[in-house]
Amino acid sequence: MTTSIRPNDSTASAFPVTFDKLSLTDSISAIEWEKGMIHSFESFGTKDGPGVRFVLFMQGCPLRCLYCHNPDTWKVGQHSYELTAHEAFEEIRKVKAFIRRGGVTVSGGEPMLQPQFVMDLFALCKMEGLHTAVDTSGFIMNDKVKEVLSLVDLVLLDIKHIRPERYKMLTSRPLEPTLQFVDYLQKIDKSVWVRYVLVPGYSDDERDLHHWAEYVAKYDVVKRVDILPFHQMGKHKWKTMGMNYKLENVPPASPELVGRTERIFKQYGLPLPV
Ligand code: SF4
Repeated sequence: MTTSIRPNDSTASAFPVTFDKLSLTDSISAIEWEKGMIHSFESFGTKDGPGVRFVLFMQGCPLRCLYCHNPDTWKVGQHSYELTAHEAFEEIRKVKAFIRRGGVTVSGGEPMLQPQFVMDLFALCKMEGLHTAVDTSGFIMNDKVKEVLSLVDLVLLDIKHIRPERYKMLTSRPLEPTLQFVDYLQKIDKSVWVRYVLVPGYSDDERDLHHWAEYVAKYDVVKRVDILPFHQMGKHKWKTMGMNYKLENVPPASPELVGRTERIFKQYGLPLPV
């Protein structure tokens, strides 16, 4: 039996350079892997996809979300260390027994800024039969990203607002690429969990919530919708980094607001977790 992977070849898909499985470890070690800039990882994550998961947080993000919990991931090269996909996979291998029913999630930052690394890592995960998920803003789409998606079992996608001007105010980027991204997921029949960060005064307008829900409901690849209530737990990082945190005086999303939003989303048949 042979197994295939092709890192560092921008002209081809991740498959297939062939290895004899008996010498797979040696062959993999001998490859010149592209390094990924990594912010951190978590061995037993439970919030980023189904089951217990190894979660890798990549460095670099093109968005500037006002409520970002990880502004230290924004700048490529800052606060990061470099690993090859093979080295990162060695970390995953250590906990493989625990994540067998969960899998591996690559989050960020924005993973699609480093598609070759993610592709290489997911190819290794697939060889070991591990479930793969990518957590993205959907801002970046190109041929490499499409290749990554071919190795992904589940996409976790934030659609942070449905009104373009509000989306831009929240993230500093346009909404349209994210809507095109979810169109592409529908086209390739890729399962997606959509998340919505509920921020009082920013993303809780009732008409907008109806509009958001109506929009998302038209995609049958959407298998789950999570409402993420805003809280102030990310504030300290902004302060520590000397950054201007504009949401300083915004209250956390109350249980009543979350309940109201759930009721609206349910009217459109969105698959909220039970
Ligand atoms: S997309 Fe995520 S990592 Fe990037 S700024 Fe927004 S919340 Fe932060």
